[in-house]
Amino acid sequence: MTSPRIARVALPVPLDRLFDYKLEDDQHPEVGTRVIVPFQRRELVGFVTELTEHSEFKQLKGIKQVLDEAPLLPKTLFSLLQWASQFYQYPFGDTLSVALPSLLRKGEPASRKPTKQWHLTALGHEQNPTVIAKRAPKQAQVLGLLMQGSRAHSELLAEEVTSATLKTLAEKGWVKDEIKLPVNSTWQTEPSEEKPVLNTEQSVAIASINAAEGYHCYLLEGVTGSGKTEVYLNIIEPVLAKGQQILILVPEIGLTPQTINRFQRRFKGVPLSVIHSGLNDTERLTAWLDGRDKQAGIIIGTRSALFTPFQSLGMIIIDEEHDASYKQQDTLRYHARDLAVMRAAKEQIPIILGSATPSLESLHNAQQGKYHHLTLTQRAGTAVAARHGILDIKGQYLEGGLSAALIAEMRKHIQAGNQVLLFLNRRGFAPVMMCHECGWIADCERCDVHYTYHAHSHELRCHHCSTQRPVYHQCQSCGSTQLITAGVGTEQLEQQLETLFPEQKTIRIDRDSTRRKGSLEQYLDDIHANQYQILIGTQMLAKGHHFPNVTLVALLDVDSALFSSDFRAPERLAQLLIQVAGRAGRASKPGEVLLQTHHPDHPLLKTLLHKGYGEFAQSALEERKQTALPPYRFLAMLRAEANSSDAAAAFLFQVRQILQASPVITPEIELLGPNPAPLARRAGKYRWQLLIQSPQRRSLQQLLAIARPAIQMLPDAKRVRWTLDVEPQELS
Ligand code: ADP
Ligand code: ZN
Ligand code: ZN
Repeated sequence: MTSPRIARVALPVPLDRLFDYKLEDDQHPEVGTRVIVPFQRRELVGFVTELTEHSEFKQLKGIKQVLDEAPLLPKTLFSLLQWASQFYQYPFGDTLSVALPSLLRKGEPASRKPTKQWHLTALGHEQNPTVIAKRAPKQAQVLGLLMQGSRAHSELLAEEVTSATLKTLAEKGWVKDEIKLPVNSTWQTEPSEEKPVLNTEQSVAIASINAAEGYHCYLLEGVTGSGKTEVYLNIIEPVLAKGQQILILVPEIGLTPQTINRFQRRFKGVPLSVIHSGLNDTERLTAWLDGRDKQAGIIIGTRSALFTPFQSLGMIIIDEEHDASYKQQDTLRYHARDLAVMRAAKEQIPIILGSATPSLESLHNAQQGKYHHLTLTQRAGTAVAARHGILDIKGQYLEGGLSAALIAEMRKHIQAGNQVLLFLNRRGFAPVMMCHECGWIADCERCDVHYTYHAHSHELRCHHCSTQRPVYHQCQSCGSTQLITAGVGTEQLEQQLETLFPEQKTIRIDRDSTRRKGSLEQYLDDIHANQYQILIGTQMLAKGHHFPNVTLVALLDVDSALFSSDFRAPERLAQLLIQVAGRAGRASKPGEVLLQTHHPDHPLLKTLLHKGYGEFAQSALEERKQTALPPYRFLAMLRAEANSSDAAAAFLFQVRQILQASPVITPEIELLGPNPAPLARRAGKYRWQLLIQSPQRRSLQQLLAIARPAIQMLPDAKRVRWTLDVEPQELS
């Protein structure tokens, strides 16, 4: 029997197809191994996706080198990526590129480098470092260090030991080196701290999850502070004890040292690895190997950690499952929560989606019986729920965005020795700079938006394309020097508070004030040490952090979100309100939450504050159903950007024709647009979009799969920048 002599290879090139290569007699790659192949005039690292006898092409080139002895990815992960490539309509070769650490994409070996370890010999143990220190202090230092146990070569170098010293000691026969490869770890799973006594709701949730065998998806809806993390800690314990690994995904701003510590503290004996976008290439590969080689029992990470291979994955947890950062907004536009559910199904393991404010999609899935809905309605321990209030600011004088009623309330809380958190999701000094005489507004030259005035750096900045310029001293329309600002950003609020509360210390936490590495951690420590009485925060402060001394949380401006054109805006606002409110009164002190609005009677606010998130979500779902929106419809968005508005529009009109003429389009599928995007010009490019809406996922998928190759063939497809976003989260 002859083995197949042709390998079908996925390559990281924008061409949406696979490439055939001839195998030499001594080449026997398996599906899923990496190979180096010639492509045009370059060499590329690709993946073997299929082995076959036949190719429609003659004159195949040969494979230059087979890189892996065994498939790089476990079967389930490989098939998950194939699924993702189809579902998100993204080339398989590029999908692999998104999912893999960059060193592996470049062809580096998928293995740990062996490390050199030093230890004392029997003769070495007999030496007395104190005596030796007199004539050879460096040698004594090494002996001292190694008496505590063996050390990696790199660790010793970090202690300012030189290779020369080690060589001398080795020649004396006192120390010896050894090349070591890390071995599979087994771990000690006894909890290393005392566990709180669980309340009934927690016990019920834990018991039902523990009873699961194979794939099950649980939606764990628990109000902030209800002890969801405690539930996670309890359900992973038996899984770890079985020797299986755990994957925990958290939102980008939720990956705080506090979160990591909770898991590490409970399971000191279990190796834990963290994966986030700040890792360098080597760290990234190491964390990936930690999963694959079972060097880690727990992996906590942001979105992309989903693509970590595991030797024996036993459970997936998605914390704050509603968080928008789970959706990738470029290249492979995947939703990590949805892909994680798919992965759990393929791996036949349980997955837990936790949130205080579940997404409408997940609630809908729970109502349909696809997910098991578990609820925690009580705050754990002694904490009580916060009181809510609305401050009507119609016709009120605002000082730096603060109403008199709010200022008075702040004084009360501060006088009682507590902290106040003011939430304003707008950084900079003011969102608008304009001419007092003629009304001219300073706009970004490359986008359809106003410049934000930053007083600190004395600049105008565009928050959409990042251009910045010195502040104008004259109106560019009438020449007047009377330039004023309108609206309030965090910088201005900070300045106002210095006047209003001169005795108190205020800290502003936004992307500008925390640019320096480590500064956020420092500020958070200082807040915990009570060095500040007033905290100003953008959404950076909305989640993940616990401020036990904050008893008043105020949202200064909710009106813009109430009237947004994005159909998800009410859901996002509701989630944000509940999250921010959850920052208050977490310890034994009762908290208070105040909202400033011009629309105190807005139904969203009324339902949310008087009846809670559950009722809000129910009525929001009803509205989505009536207006034929997700989760009752499935969407795909085609976007086009070009140097001229006409070019972008014309391209999408051609796309619309292709879709309309498709043999698989059904009468229920609706095409909306093309229309100019809500932000019609960004960074100098004109933007248009076309929305496809279908009551079934399947018919939408079929339509896209057939239409996409035709769209790619359009001559204009090379002249505009276009993207396809399946199940988009942002419609702008
Ligand atoms: P969530 O993740 O739902 O916001 P946490 O799990 O962080 O809630 O719990 C909030 C606080 O309550 C934490 O300080 C936690 O240690 C504590 N806690 C959780 N469960 C219990 C319990 N059963 N008894 C006492 N304290 C608890
Ligand atoms: Zn003017
Ligand atoms: Zn701009």
